[in-house]
Order: sequence, then C-alpha cells, then structure tokens
Amino acid sequence: MGTPLETRNEQATEIVDRLEAAYPDSTISLRYSNRLELLIAVILSAQCTDERVNKETKDLFEKYDGPEAYAAVPQEELAEDLNSITYYNSKAEYIRNTAETIVEEHDGEVPDTMAELTELSGVGRKTANVVLQHGHDVVEGIVVDTHVQRLSRRLGLTDEQRPDAIEQELMDLVPEGYWQGFTHLCIDHGRAICTARNPDCADCVLADICPSQKGDSEVDLASGEPW
Ligand code: SF4
Repeated sequence: MGTPLETRNEQATEIVDRLEAAYPDSTISLRYSNRLELLIAVILSAQCTDERVNKETKDLFEKYDGPEAYAAVPQEELAEDLNSITYYNSKAEYIRNTAETIVEEHDGEVPDTMAELTELSGVGRKTANVVLQHGHDVVEGIVVDTHVQRLSRRLGLTDEQRPDAIEQELMDLVPEGYWQGFTHLCIDHGRAICTARNPDCADCVLADICPSQKGDSEVDLASGEPW
C-alpha cells in the first residue's frame, strides 16, 4: 500500500501539488452566464451528472430570463422542462420557491452570504459554497461532493463520514488558497482515475502516497470495506 506523508497537512499539500500538475485546467464544469443560472445549475446537479444538467439548461436558460420568470411559471410546466433530470419534480419546486424568495426578499439578486443562501429552498451548504465561490468570488469553505468525500477518505485525509464534518477537517489541512481548486481537482481525478467502483490505481499519480492503493491495500478506506 502507498505510504501517506507524515502529517495530514503534508499529505493534503502533496495531493494538491500532484493533482494540479495532472489537471492544470481544472475548473467547474457546469455552464452558466450569471449567478441565478449558476444557482439553478447547482440545484439541478444534485445526484445528476454535470453533462446532463448542461444539456438541459441550454434550453432552460433561453426560455427563462430571470427570477420573476421562474417564480411565475406553473409547477407542472417547469417540471416538464426538467424531465430528463433526476428528481425533476422536487427540483422544479425548489427552483420556483427559491426564485420567489429572491424576488420578494433580495430585490431579484442572488444573495451573497452563506446564511441567506442556505435559507433558500433546496440550497444546502454545498450548493451555497459553489455559488459563493463561483458567483461572488467568496471562498468560505470547501465544497464536499461525492468525489471529494470519497477521495479524502481513500487518501487518508479524514476518517469522517458526513460532508459537513469532512469539510471542517479539510479546511484545517488544505492551504486556504486551494479551498476552491481542491474540489475541482478531486472531481477531475475522481472522474478520470479514482472512480467509485473501479479506480485505476496502476495509473494514479497518488498511488505511492495512497493508503487505499488497490492491489497493495486490502481495504477501500472510502467505504471501509475490502476491495
Ligand atoms: S486511484 Fe487508487 S491509488 Fe489513486 S487515489 Fe484512488 S484509490 Fe488511491
């Protein structure tokens, strides 16, 4: 098995350095042209691929051009517009309610604080962090999605299970300047190499420092189960 560096801080910095070299163009893959579109795209991306969301939002963002439009559309019509997205009924409801709140309480603007964003329908800390980082250039934390969760555990950065607890731990380990980039590096590596079911450890730039390295380690530390 790979041998992690002596401290988790060193491990985190080394991971960032190597992944940055491997994925120099790493960034958010959702498409949007303003903050509201970003917020909607992130709401839609829960348990759905970014690729699918980008396909669907192409027409959606042409049809609706502001929070008033989303707030005014009937639930059935918006749900129908989103019907290739997972949980489209619930997501249509979140988007309509969120748009209504934005119109009524925020003068039509997407709020720029964690507290106000997480008050919106369907918006948790993860979604709020993405909107703050990419919509407002405010980096308050680290977005912990399924890839960050899996890779952080596999690579021995955390033993925590819940995204909020993982985020708190990562914020102590990852240099602050990389809080935003860390997520996208994990997503790129999680998609390309360190996939959920069948990671390609033989072709991984982190193999020698990864305590889960398949073949050498018996256990996938992400799940705690044997490979
Ligand atoms: S691909 Fe394998 S070696 Fe690389 S980070 Fe994932 S589990 Fe570790």
